[in-house]
Amino acid sequence: MNWITKIIKAGEKIKSAIHKRASKEDIANSDWTSCCKGPILKKDLEENLWVCPDCNKHHRIKPKQRFDILFGKDNYEIFQTPIPKDDPLNWTDSKSYKDRLKSARKKTGMDCGMMVVSGVINNIKITAVASDFDFLGASMAAAEGEAFLYGIQHAIENKTPFLCVSAGGGNENDGKFDFFVSNDKDHTSNK
Ligand SMILES: [Zn+2]
Repeated sequence: MNWITKIIKAGEKIKSAIHKRASKEDIANSDWTSCCKGPILKKDLEENLWVCPDCNKHHRIKPKQRFDILFGKDNYEIFQTPIPKDDPLNWTDSKSYKDRLKSARKKTGMDCGMMVVSGVINNIKITAVASDFDFLGASMAAAEGEAFLYGIQHAIENKTPFLCVSAGGGNENDGKFDFFVSNDKDHTSNK
């Protein structure tokens, strides 16, 4: 390698270092995130309930972060909700739905995109559900329908208020199965 190729290689290294952008994973694992004025410590954002003190942007938060704010850190009971059969339509588009579910579960540590808990606010017991946008955009498939109904059933049986924090919309991968859940089960009828 002569001096010219050495210089060219060094230049390429500098160029790639400058252009290398942080991956989503790098950002997720970092103590920092960014907002209107550039980098901001996640710790500072958390102290302000994940709302930017400068521009008032509400940063995206996960169900546990939301419940920590509502009920106090880890001061709530998380329920295991029924998980129906995965991928009833055997759906594939650019990727198979089974693979999408697998990576969403790995990414979030949740079985479905909706978490159901029970906690206390001002001495009032509350049943609450919240969805996680990182789980397939918090879309409502059959499992999320089951979780939602589980929460309602729990609220009825325990005579608590029911609080729902939604973060997404419908899910085409399960077709109408998310709606079938409500017809199929005796969650709320006759109550
Ligand atoms: Zn901001």
